[in-house]
Amino acid sequence: MKTVTNKAKLTPMLRQYLEIKEQHRDTILFYRMGDFYEMFFDDAIEASKILGITLTSRNKKSDTVQVPMCGIPYHALQTYLAKLVRKGRRIAICEQVEDPAQAKGIVKREVVRIISPGIISDNQLLDDKSNNYICSIVAKTSGETIHYGLGFLDVSTGEFLVGEFRESGYGDVIDQISRLTPTEILINIKNKEDIESLMQSIETQFPSICITEREPDLYQFSSSRELLLEHFGTVTLDGFGCGHFTVAVIAAGTLLDYVRETQKTSVDHIEKLTPLDTETILQIDDSSRRNLELTQTIIGGERQGSLLSVIDQTCTPMGARLMKNNLLFPLQDVQRINNRLDSVTFFFKNSGLRKKVRDLLDQVYDLERLNSRMILGTGNARDLMAMKHSLARLPELHTLLSQCDTTRLIELHSGFDTLKDLHDLLEKAIHPDPPVTLREGNIIREGFNEELDELISILRDGKKMILGLEAKEREATGIAKLKIGFNKVFGYYIEVSKIHADRVPQSYIRKQTLVNAERFITPELKEFENKVIGAQDRRVELEYQLFCTIREHFVSCSSRILATARMLAQIDFLAANAETAQIFNYRRPKVNRGDSIEVIEGRHPVIERSLGSGQFVPNDITLDQTQDEVLIITGPNMAGKSTILRQTALIVLMAQMGSYVPAEKAVIGIVDRIFTRVGAMDDLRRGQSTFMVEMSETANILNNATERSLVVLDEIGRGTSTYDGLSIAWAVAEELVNKNGKGVKTLFATHYHELIALARTHERVQNFSIKVREWRNTILFLHKLTRGGTNRSYGIQVASLAGVPDHVVKRAEKILIEIEKDNLNSNTSPSTCDNSRKNRKKHPDQLSLFPPPGNHLLDFLKTVNPDEVSPKQAIDILYKIKQLA
Ligand code: ADP
Repeated sequence: MKTVTNKAKLTPMLRQYLEIKEQHRDTILFYRMGDFYEMFFDDAIEASKILGITLTSRNKKSDTVQVPMCGIPYHALQTYLAKLVRKGRRIAICEQVEDPAQAKGIVKREVVRIISPGIISDNQLLDDKSNNYICSIVAKTSGETIHYGLGFLDVSTGEFLVGEFRESGYGDVIDQISRLTPTEILINIKNKEDIESLMQSIETQFPSICITEREPDLYQFSSSRELLLEHFGTVTLDGFGCGHFTVAVIAAGTLLDYVRETQKTSVDHIEKLTPLDTETILQIDDSSRRNLELTQTIIGGERQGSLLSVIDQTCTPMGARLMKNNLLFPLQDVQRINNRLDSVTFFFKNSGLRKKVRDLLDQVYDLERLNSRMILGTGNARDLMAMKHSLARLPELHTLLSQCDTTRLIELHSGFDTLKDLHDLLEKAIHPDPPVTLREGNIIREGFNEELDELISILRDGKKMILGLEAKEREATGIAKLKIGFNKVFGYYIEVSKIHADRVPQSYIRKQTLVNAERFITPELKEFENKVIGAQDRRVELEYQLFCTIREHFVSCSSRILATARMLAQIDFLAANAETAQIFNYRRPKVNRGDSIEVIEGRHPVIERSLGSGQFVPNDITLDQTQDEVLIITGPNMAGKSTILRQTALIVLMAQMGSYVPAEKAVIGIVDRIFTRVGAMDDLRRGQSTFMVEMSETANILNNATERSLVVLDEIGRGTSTYDGLSIAWAVAEELVNKNGKGVKTLFATHYHELIALARTHERVQNFSIKVREWRNTILFLHKLTRGGTNRSYGIQVASLAGVPDHVVKRAEKILIEIEKDNLNSNTSPSTCDNSRKNRKKHPDQLSLFPPPGNHLLDFLKTVNPDEVSPKQAIDILYKIKQLA
């Protein structure tokens, strides 16, 4: 800390500050002083900038030690914390842990909580529709392969996922990170070099994630395992399906340790480990997920405009988080998918019941996070009220669910704990309109505790007693204007104006003289005061204690609350799917283990929403392994090629998450992975060129696609020269149709019309194009997919529609006519495709998209007769040759 020049010159308070700060160097220390949290030194400089608050200095009188400082009022803590946490900062909250009035010397202070981006439980800081994960990465290298252990923990809900990945690169790790988007990552400070390039990649791709380095002694298998066993109260991790994990156990152990250390409270709501299962879920890699805009748009990263924003009709935050997770982890298990779909169908058909269920769910608060706040000790009486309002809806929900007859809903109904005892306790105990703070009373209801009732009656009667006393004293003294008042310094007093001072009895004890009045006390008044003030203090203390006992009781019931919260999330998810289906006219897909995908009148769920009603043109797509394996889709820009590609992928994905789909009919043979290579988005975040990104995504597809995968390729090979691009596109399409003997179901949109020739030699390749109509020198997009390829790209018409100036469009038309003339004799349907210029010359009937360089030059040279030119003309000819070359 460079600002500290001489500790000896600091006050004892600042010395205490520095001692505490020493223990929490990587945090901004919020040091409680009365009603403020103060920050000093570099923390103050940094925080004042981020928070936009004034930087002042302490020790102003000393000329050697100027201490920068800034502060925030304690009641505004949440707002300021939010700003710092969003900037990826960690904050240590240091409280006064003894009563300043009792303290001898400097008040004792301790750090009671550390808040970091990955560990927050305050509702104000959290997005209620997303989980807030903290992640731990552990890596072990053996030869070429690295063995990664990953853990993801959401402290606000108790969700704890772990997984292991062996790979030579780190694609799977990045994939999980991009799927679960943690806000903080823990790494082993000694492991840093092994995972340097992974971390670089994370830092460039996800710059807002806070990276926290931890000490290596925690990174042991045995101690991590023991910590987990002790926490879960089990003797093995087998019951969680995690018994075979090694590095993942370390990742999980370090997470639990970190949370315990920073929260300094129980974390009992973390009840189980869930393996990050990659076998039973439909895999979608990072770039495909982004390309398909599942949870956010590519440009701007907004939720609005994503698939999630359209299909998420959930009522509760728990339901919204489950919807997002189910979208990110669609299933491969036909039985589970159909179980979900059965329940969606039930809610779809029983719309009256669905409405009632959803109306009730609408009134349920975030039970998962309320539960966590109780456990972490941050929950207040208002949280308990929110809990009560939520629990009040459960009995009716339970009754409604008894009418459901699907496997999944029967299962949910039979395990439904309505938590009636907890609701009744809250009803009896908690004041219906409690304050936010726990130290001002009015939390506990009358009738709940005898002692409290007595205190309340003393306080209530106190007012009457004062009036009685006042009347009695007026009568005794004959001073009509005598009144009893209260202030913090003297407590209760009798006030008499100066003109009546002579009538004051001897027994009055003078306490204060004002300009026009005198203030007195009497023994009777003091006795009353002791009773009332004592009652007020005792009441606040007792209410606090009672509240804590109730909160403790809730903590002891947290497993039940969590189970109910998760069950509500499931119901919400299923009913919301039915709601979406109803609003947007979706149909139930048939999901089976067959080999084909058939979509009749499919629509793009997001684009159809942005167009007016009835404007979206539905399209059919069939993919199978006998005839329609690789579909080559041609058509001009803006015709709707990308839309068809994406909508097919989205329909498959929605079906496998158990949702109805935007189509008249859909039969989906289970897909294991969806790969997309869509658009030519330049991925500057990764510091790679467009072409490099395109090729590495293509490599990933070719290496990993199976006969059960769905591949969606849009304009592959665009980022390089035409010949290279076409050659690559050609070879990729051939590989996909032949892969593993069976081929891979592929939608291949392309500008290279030459590719339509593939269908002649490969029976499982089919040509499709998107219809356009030419009309008065322009074109109309019909957006209709039809069998058969096209060799027209209408690029110039599209340019004109886009507003390219007329004279440029006219010039382009002329150039096109010239080029086409030059190419008249060229054949544009190669049977083989070879990229080398040498071979191209040998086979003049191959690719000829542009006139070969040199044609114009040759024509020109033929016109030159060297015997007839002057030296000046010779120089001109030389210049011309240079121009044409
Ligand atoms: P391409 O990939 O062929 O260049 P896109 O798929 O990007 O074209 O579609 C361009 C625009 O055309 C979309 O943003 C949408 O507004 C419209 N569009 C695409 N498909 C349809 C459709 N089936 N019905 C109505 N409009 C569509």
